[in-house]
Amino acid sequence: MPNASIGVDVGGTKIAAGLVNAQGQIVCRGQRPTPAGSPTDILRGIADAVNEVIQTSGLKREQVEAIGLGIPGLVDPATGIGIVSVNLHWHDVPVKRVLEEMLGKPCFIDNDVKVAALGEFRHGQGQGLSSMVYLSIGTGIAAHLILDGKLYRGPNGMAGEIGHAVIDRHGPRCNCGAQGCLEALASGPAIAARATAKINAGRASSLVRMATAQQEPITAEQVFAAAANGDPLALETTEETGSYLADAIQILIMMLDPQLVVLGGGVARSGDLLLSPIRRSLERQAAQSYVFRQAFAPERVQLTRLGGDAAILGAASLVTAGF
Ligand SMILES: [Zn+2]
Repeated sequence: MPNASIGVDVGGTKIAAGLVNAQGQIVCRGQRPTPAGSPTDILRGIADAVNEVIQTSGLKREQVEAIGLGIPGLVDPATGIGIVSVNLHWHDVPVKRVLEEMLGKPCFIDNDVKVAALGEFRHGQGQGLSSMVYLSIGTGIAAHLILDGKLYRGPNGMAGEIGHAVIDRHGPRCNCGAQGCLEALASGPAIAARATAKINAGRASSLVRMATAQQEPITAEQVFAAAANGDPLALETTEETGSYLADAIQILIMMLDPQLVVLGGGVARSGDLLLSPIRRSLERQAAQSYVFRQAFAPERVQLTRLGGDAAILGAASLVTAGF
């Protein structure tokens, strides 16, 4: 098998590696918990995961061209340095240099969500397109902009940080210090917080029983599950979430005119429970605005097709550079 490369999704809890063939298919996988120790321990864990995949695949080492890695936090792809990662508890780690020494293969790194956007663009919903916005909605929110086939980063690497665009200036305080950022309204923790605020205001909901029984704060996942069961408070919360995200997506569409907006990240696992309210809100806006109608069609907003595999596939394709 020529031109096989290995993609690694390095997370705060697990390292997932996959051997990707020339057709962009994951043909062999390996996974292990992320070591809790020093940066060297984590890098050794990554090297072990890669070696395990090579051994399981039955390939000779020479048949593996290179290794691509998606790393959480701030990353410098040019120097191969992991600048800072809250999840991995490290800063200024020479990831590329150390792993190349350990593995004897060229290594390429980029931010984990950017790598997932690349995977989705090359092998998922974005296949065959030239422009796509990948909106990642999880603990944080960020958009990754692929324009004319290339990731647009901006001169400060801040392009797409729409999570900190103010959507409601009377909204809740964001971790960044501002008030009413998209992230403070529609991220996973924000969805849970808005539902909890309604419950604390005395509203009835199946989530009240759940919160009491588990004696822990409710999660966004539970809000979506309750919405799926028809709980009015949860439905209201997911509908609001959809309209906050739709406001941001409307700006992205008007600014960039992308062929497609893809929703990824943990919150996108809620599937149609997230997508439908977003589309409903965008359709209302399109019905009002002649200008927006020229740029928008419901099918131009889609859920990720690759889910968790997007990062492995994207990391593996870092090897064929030009992103
Ligand atoms: Zn913010």
